[in-house]
Amino acid sequence: MIRELTCIVCPQGCSLKVELDGKNIISVSGNTCPRGEKYAISECTNPERCVTSTVRCENGEVVAVKTDRPIPKEKIFECMEIINKQIVTLPISIGDVIITDVFGANIVATQNKF
Ligand code: SF4
Repeated sequence: MIRELTCIVCPQGCSLKVELDGKNIISVSGNTCPRGEKYAISECTNPERCVTSTVRCENGEVVAVKTDRPIPKEKIFECMEIINKQIVTLPISIGDVIITDVFGANIVATQNKF
């Protein structure tokens, strides 16, 4: 079986072809650099994504947040439920850890809010 993917590691967006035998990867082609092969293998075996969202503040505002590393794709919905329950107290600075260890990642602030 051939699976076609678009590499999302950089803006070049190479078209990748992954030859699979069941769950085993036979070959990866179409990548311009080694990162594309690594992405294709990850996407076919254990797909991951970084999550971006917002967290509510006590004063009714929201602050932008993201995971500090990718989490398993199938955990995104549960991650969003955890983020949506959180309420923070200002001030918040970029890089502040808002929630620790959500499926292996920390949720960190991506904006300053005073
Ligand atoms: S294969 Fe390399 S050059 Fe192509 S999109 Fe992926 S990271 Fe960018």
